[in-house]
Amino acid sequence: MDRQHFVRMMAVLPAAAALMDLRTFARLTDDLGPTPRMPVLFLGHGSPMNAIEENRFVAGFRQMGRELPRPTAILCVSAHWETRGMQVTAMERPRTIHDFGGFPPELYAVQYPAPGDPQLAEDAHRLLAPTPVGMDQSWGLDHGAWSVIKHLYPQADVPVVQLSLDRGMNAEQHYALARQLAPLRDKGVLIIGSGNMVHNLGLVAWDHLDDPYGYDWALEARARMKELILSGDHLALQRYADQGRAFQLAIPTPEHYLPLLYALALQGKGEAVSLFNDEPLAGSLAMTSVKIDRA
Ligand code: ZN
Repeated sequence: MDRQHFVRMMAVLPAAAALMDLRTFARLTDDLGPTPRMPVLFLGHGSPMNAIEENRFVAGFRQMGRELPRPTAILCVSAHWETRGMQVTAMERPRTIHDFGGFPPELYAVQYPAPGDPQLAEDAHRLLAPTPVGMDQSWGLDHGAWSVIKHLYPQADVPVVQLSLDRGMNAEQHYALARQLAPLRDKGVLIIGSGNMVHNLGLVAWDHLDDPYGYDWALEARARMKELILSGDHLALQRYADQGRAFQLAIPTPEHYLPLLYALALQGKGEAVSLFNDEPLAGSLAMTSVKIDRA
């Protein structure tokens, strides 16, 4: 598109924007240079009930949705999709997956009909090479993705693609792969890691389910993780298994922690990190969420 064409287009922009979706518009304007770099998020998703409850965490997600520049699409790494080898959802219409048990019928009734984005899946596949990434047609959106993204974009009008966690990789490998996704940020893609940095369901304090309460080890792990995040010590965070007893209790299995590394790996030189929903919960969880953005 030449400049003159672009200027003509800007003149009819309100009408044009109404007629085409933002991603199409972004592609048409590709040769005008990159869009401003999108922030990156790590979201502490907590209970699936956050999808339908009104609480301070949901308010925090909603507020974040209002503050962010509108993305052309979302690429989400959720704690709830672990596979052998990497997969990316490549379907046009991802289904809403209710991957939990024992919750009220209202939660199973929730649908989040955001479209997929096969082109973004293709882009992720290309950027992650030579690591093979399967183009998945069967998954969809699990609750690690939809229960929080629904508060960022309640209209379900931003396409969402999920990238799986390969069980066969260690933390350093996940971190290195995540860095390869960085160019997507300049294409208007919002990259989200969804998990909980402190997450030990076996030790939940059932009498403190909704309380900002943490066991000593959970508070210690969260405080130390925040220190490392804010000081940019990503190496110590990748070597979480060597960080002592508090970390071992906070990360009994890695799937809720690794999405944090996907977000941090995308922090560019001079970019700022800020925290929100920064609370312990139910003894053995932390809802602490992270935003990475230009300083
Ligand atoms: Zn979870």
